[in-house]
Amino acid sequence: MTTSCWGVVCAAGRGERFGGSRPKALIELAGTALVVHAVRALRDGGCAGIVVAAPAALNSEVSRLVPDLDVVVVGGGATRQNSVRAALQAVPDDVRWVLVHDAARPLVPGAVVQAVRAALVAGAAAVIPVLPVVDTMKSVDPDGTVTGTVDRTALRRAQTPQGFERDLLVRALEESTARGDEVTDDAEAVAALGISVRTVPGDERGLKITTPADLALAQALLGHRDNPTQ
Ligand code: C5P
Repeated sequence: MTTSCWGVVCAAGRGERFGGSRPKALIELAGTALVVHAVRALRDGGCAGIVVAAPAALNSEVSRLVPDLDVVVVGGGATRQNSVRAALQAVPDDVRWVLVHDAARPLVPGAVVQAVRAALVAGAAAVIPVLPVVDTMKSVDPDGTVTGTVDRTALRRAQTPQGFERDLLVRALEESTARGDEVTDDAEAVAALGISVRTVPGDERGLKITTPADLALAQALLGHRDNPTQ
């Protein structure tokens, strides 16, 4: 087992909430596809190699966007959880840590990636970047009537990349799948094994692009002014 760290980029979503005919990971931000931004962020943060889970029909198109020898492109699954599982199979056996990142978070700074990696090297088995919640949080019933105010001091917004001991993550996702669970982030599957998940400070630039308004915000953060739907 080496002490190297690989990245996994989840890029196989259809981007239905974004609209448009292209998968979200191929939408361009400042002239570069979101998936390429995400690969660069992991590389800047020190990942030795990267596996991209791409929409199966677009494997070769994504491979052309990331031609480097140390980026492996695999077909993703029907769910994010299955995309991560598919990507993990392409990580070399001797890699100790993996950082799982959403292609939909193209602007995460390399410093956040490095902080996640540093926490793993310092001994954490699972690490996620988080931000505080600034809005007042309400719970509601199925009709939308407020049932209470949730104490926000104990709440955090989870971002990616999320870092793990590789063997732990593989086991956590296998067991989650066997239970029939479908997690929206990997830390949930690891926490279900009773493992503590550490946090490091996230960054507003790690925002997830879900709608065209998010893309416009990302363009503003970059100081770039293209048509946000291109
Ligand atoms: O849908 P959502 O925005 O939560 O997806 C988060 C990330 O997971 C996106 O980068 C998306 O491409 C990826 N994903 C995936 N495989 C799926 C569904 C989503 O890689 N089947």
